[in-house]
Amino acid sequence: MALKTHKIHKLPEVLCLKLNRFLCDEEGPFKLNGVIQLPFEGLDLRYYMDILISAFPEENSRYTLISIISHEGDYPNAGHFTCYSLNCVTNKWFHFDDKNVTQVSEDELKDVEGYILFYRKECVSKQRIIDRMKLLKSLSIHEPKNCYISKEWMIRFYSFCEPGEINNNGVKCEHDKLLNKRGYTRITYPVWIHLKKNFKGGPFVRDEEFCLICSEVSNQFSHSFNLLIRTVSALPQSRRTISRSFSTFTLNS
Ligand SMILES: [Zn+2]
Repeated sequence: MALKTHKIHKLPEVLCLKLNRFLCDEEGPFKLNGVIQLPFEGLDLRYYMDILISAFPEENSRYTLISIISHEGDYPNAGHFTCYSLNCVTNKWFHFDDKNVTQVSEDELKDVEGYILFYRKECVSKQRIIDRMKLLKSLSIHEPKNCYISKEWMIRFYSFCEPGEINNNGVKCEHDKLLNKRGYTRITYPVWIHLKKNFKGGPFVRDEEFCLICSEVSNQFSHSFNLLIRTVSALPQSRRTISRSFSTFTLNS
C-alpha cells in the first residue's frame, strides 16, 4: 500500500479545499456521504508546510472557515449544489440555495456535508496595523491629505492578510509623469509613513508627480463623455440608437 502526501510551499490568502466525495470503483462512480467535523477557526497550516515549523511565524499560518459548498444527493451524476457563506462584517452565516437566502447558525453548519471548503488567512498582525492607521487618521484629521497611494494596493490592504509591498508605480505619460489621479487615493503624511514603515515599497507620490497637461486633456474628455451620457439618457428610448451613432461620429471627427 502506498501513501501519498502533499506539502504546502506557500500559504495562500484564501485556501480552497476539495474533499474527495466522488470516487470510482469497478462498479462505476459513487459518492461518499457523511458529515465531517470542520475546524471553523484556527486551522493551522504550519504542520503541512515543506519548511521547518519553527521557521514559520505562527500568526500567519492560521485560517478561518468562510464558505462551504455542499452537494445534496446520493449520486455523483445528480444532485443539487448549495453554498454556505460567512458575512465577515456581521460575522453571520447565510445559506444560498438558488434564489433563497436564509441566515443559519454555526450549530446548523455542523450537519452540513461539505464538498468544497474556503478558508481565509487570519490577520492578527494586520489588524494591529489597521487599528494604528485609524488612530493616526483621527489624530491627523487637520493635516492636509497631500500624499497619494494606489487604490489597487489599498484594496489588497483591506482584503488580504499580506498585501505585499506598496506599489505606487502607476502608468506614466509621454512627459514621464503619472497619468492621472483616478487610480490613487489621498492620505495624510503620518498615514503614509505608517504604511511605508510596515509594508515598504513606494514610491512616495505627491501632486507634483502627476502630469498637469495629460490630466487637463483627461478632464476635458471625461466632461464631454459625461455630458454625452446625460444627454442620451434623457432621450426617449427610440431615439437613443441614432443619437449614439451621431455622437460617436462627432467625437471621432
Ligand atoms: Zn503627460
